[in-house]
Amino acid sequence: MNFCSHCGHSVTCRIPDGDNRLRCVCDACGTIHYENPKVLVSVMANVGDRLLWVRRAQPPRAGYWFIPAGFMEHGESLQEAAAREFAEETGIILPPEAMQLYAVGSLVSINEVYVAFRTTLEHANCKPNAEVSEIRLFSEPELPWESLAFPEIADQVRCFYREVREGRFGIYLGEYRASHDPAGDKVIRVDG
Ligand SMILES: [Zn+2]
Repeated sequence: MNFCSHCGHSVTCRIPDGDNRLRCVCDACGTIHYENPKVLVSVMANVGDRLLWVRRAQPPRAGYWFIPAGFMEHGESLQEAAAREFAEETGIILPPEAMQLYAVGSLVSINEVYVAFRTTLEHANCKPNAEVSEIRLFSEPELPWESLAFPEIADQVRCFYREVREGRFGIYLGEYRASHDPAGDKVIRVDG
C-alpha cells in the first residue's frame, strides 16, 4: 500500500504505539491500515467414487488441475461463498446447505485461511467458462497427479478418495507453511 484509502495521503510502514508489527500508517489522518489473512473456500464434489476437478484457463498455473475454489466476498457466509464459487466455475447450482464442512486450515506462507467443503452430486452437468477450460470427473487412479496446481494437497485428496469409497468422512485441521515444501505441512483429524 502506498496511499491512504481514507484520505489519499501517503502512508509510512512503522510499528504503531502499543503494537508489535509493521503496519501502513497514514502520515496525514493517522489511520492504521491493518492487513489480515483472506478466506479461501473450496468444494470437493464427488459423483460416485470420482471427484470433480477444474482446469484453469488463465494464469497463474494455467492448464493445471484445481479443486473449485475462490475467495469469500463481503456479505457472504462460508457456505454461500462455496456454493457461489462452485457455480461460477462449474455451472452447477447448489444450495449453500449442500456444502458440508470438510477441512479448515492455514496457508501460512501466503496469509490465507482455507475452508474446504464437500458435497455429493448425482451427476455433473458442467459448463466450462472463461476461467475454466475443462471440467472432469477423475477417480483416484485416473487423476493426473503430476498436473495438480497444488501438489501439497495430494495427501488430503487421497484421504478424501478413500473416505468417498468408505462413505464416512472426517473433519481436518491443516497447516501449510511453505509452497511446495511438504516438510512444514501437517493435517490432523479433529472430529474426535
Ligand atoms: Zn489518511
